[in-house]
Amino acid sequence: KAVQAEAAFLFYSEEMNQRAKEHLRIESELRLALQRNELQLYYQPKVSLRSGRIVGAEALLRWRHPVRGMVSPGVFIPVAEETGLILELGNWVLEEACRQVRAWKDANLIMPPVAVNLSARQFDRRLPERMADVLQRHQVQPEQIMLEITESLLVGGAENVVSIMNELVAMGLALALDDFGTGYSSLAYLKKFPISTLKIDRSFVIGLPYEENDCAIARAIVTMAQQLRQEIVAEGVETAEQMSFLRDLGCDQLQGYLFSQPVPAEDFERMLREGKRL
Ligand code: C2E
Ligand code: CA
Ligand code: CA
Ligand code: CA
Repeated sequence: KAVQAEAAFLFYSEEMNQRAKEHLRIESELRLALQRNELQLYYQPKVSLRSGRIVGAEALLRWRHPVRGMVSPGVFIPVAEETGLILELGNWVLEEACRQVRAWKDANLIMPPVAVNLSARQFDRRLPERMADVLQRHQVQPEQIMLEITESLLVGGAENVVSIMNELVAMGLALALDDFGTGYSSLAYLKKFPISTLKIDRSFVIGLPYEENDCAIARAIVTMAQQLRQEIVAEGVETAEQMSFLRDLGCDQLQGYLFSQPVPAEDFERMLREGKRL
């Protein structure tokens, strides 16, 4: 027994050790990635279910590692959040999104708003000031940028979170609630927050229109959001059946592989110029 327990412990700590090492390695390589320009933003269109036109984009971070190739944000964002490096990464993303929007404007493109993902750790008192600064430096209108935040930020409904949100909205920035339905906030609770857009999480879209539970959840979210006059975006839409179900529900926009994967800026620009439609 004792021998077994000890073996299990050794195995366990070895595994922990591996994970800790892996984190440290990712962290130090991420720091280099920032310096070496290995990061890039991809853009995924958001399409209106009514007009079929591109009405927005989400900027998604990509890391082109010299040896490992494309590293998924699902791997490195959690590490960056743990280590605090997310603040630098997040600033890089804001900077780069604003630079790109400015470049598109200068090229006479009619740009829909570009959404940027924010981690909870970026959401502090100084965020409005940082936003004002980056917008000003790139001469970008606040209406051009949308901020995607997650439900974890709302839980507890901290007063300062509401007041930071109000400040951002007063500046002209729009807020979207990402991955909706996966957290703990109730629909009614949403009234407290100045959020203009709800994004239905992909995990509820996958089962449409065949899984009864997913249909019921999607229907409840859309109905409630309509009452609160919020725009609704369905994420991860991959099939025509999912699309027509969501359209019948009265969902406003879709985002997903059905229309386009996230693509480099040049490819997104081409879709806009060619007026690609659903
Ligand atoms: P998210 O914000 O929920 O982004 C949507 C994810 O779903 C993206 O994964 C996108 O590529 C993927 N996706 C979109 N349409 C489809 C579809 O039809 N089918 C499938 N299977 N997937 C689809 P990605 O780019 O790997 O990003 C993963 C997560 O990493 C994001 O989830 C977001 O939470 C985080 N992330 C990405 N970029 C940033 C960033 O700049 N800052 C922060 N804080 N987080 C980011
Ligand atoms: Ca997002
Ligand atoms: Ca999402
Ligand atoms: Ca999601």
